[in-house]
Amino acid sequence: MTQIQLLDTHTINKIAAGEVVERPASVVKELVENSIDAKASSITIEIKNGGVDFIRITDNGKGIPKDEVEIAFLRHATSKITSAEDLAHVLSLGFRGEALASIASVAKVELLTKTPNALTGKRIEVEAGQMLHSEEIACPVGTTIIMRQLFYNVPARRAFLKATATETTKIADVVYKLALAHPEVAIKYIQNNKLVFQTAGNYDLKRCVFSLYGKDTAKDTLEMQYEEEGIQVSGLIGLPTLTRANRQYEQFFINGRTVKSNLLQKATEEAYKTLVTIGKFPFVILHLNLPPEEVDVNVHPTKLEVRFSESERVYNAVYNGIRKHLQIENLIPEVKSLT
Ligand code: ADP
Ligand code: MG
Repeated sequence: MTQIQLLDTHTINKIAAGEVVERPASVVKELVENSIDAKASSITIEIKNGGVDFIRITDNGKGIPKDEVEIAFLRHATSKITSAEDLAHVLSLGFRGEALASIASVAKVELLTKTPNALTGKRIEVEAGQMLHSEEIACPVGTTIIMRQLFYNVPARRAFLKATATETTKIADVVYKLALAHPEVAIKYIQNNKLVFQTAGNYDLKRCVFSLYGKDTAKDTLEMQYEEEGIQVSGLIGLPTLTRANRQYEQFFINGRTVKSNLLQKATEEAYKTLVTIGKFPFVILHLNLPPEEVDVNVHPTKLEVRFSESERVYNAVYNGIRKHLQIENLIPEVKSLT
């Protein structure tokens, strides 16, 4: 026997799952993103016991054709891109074709799905990458996916998970961000059978903030719409009095995707400089729309970090946009020009 051998598919998937599926929150993120990519207008997220035992995502999106359900669970199987060239202008949240394969290799998964034109849908059960059961059934249009017993076959990973409360907080963080990223989708979030929030799905970000953070926060925010050099910045910016003790409420979204960005953080904090007490941070929810060619989302496995091709333009659009809106409200005496 040779020493070097190719690993079998299940082993490859299990190793790769480590990158995509770090914890229950990553499962929730991947599955909800799939629902959004499927153009669902309504998504329900249910979790139990920190998401380790049970995660169910129900959407009313376009469903998966019956004869493609099994393919969807193969690694690198995606309906979202067909070539490397597509990567440059991808607008869907997913595109690597890894999530379903990865999740199904480290958990027990049940999926029900039906496309609008099909008479019946399909239900399948996959466990440790193996298809256990598959049947035609009657079900509503859309997809429901249930994940049970995360890492049941990877004890080392399971042991690495944090306390239930911590995992729950991480999931809530993901779900809140998804709701803010997609005010066009009605999102319902249920934790241990208790409704945590429900958004209206009518594009109204302020309503969304109201549902998520309450009336007092929503009322202290200003709506913002700004465009500079092809970069659109919209969303809500807090009054300088609406501050927080950390940066958790500086939230940025690019083309519908949650991102972390020092550049956006810096542009925001500079714009609020002198207005916000030292040691406090502003509350902003900013949506940036820019041509997909100008932002590379393929630099990080979870797509959380992005790279801009022209970071200065992005910085200026955010800084000037915030300053202008604060000025309209007479919160600052004049807009300081960058140039
Ligand atoms: P990716 O999202 O990167 O394409 P996934 O493994 O997450 O990869 O999903 C594989 C494929 O399964 C998707 O490209 C899509 O065609 C299909 N799919 C997954 N979830 C859903 C869903 N909720 N609704 C419709 N299609 C879905
Ligand atoms: Mg996906």
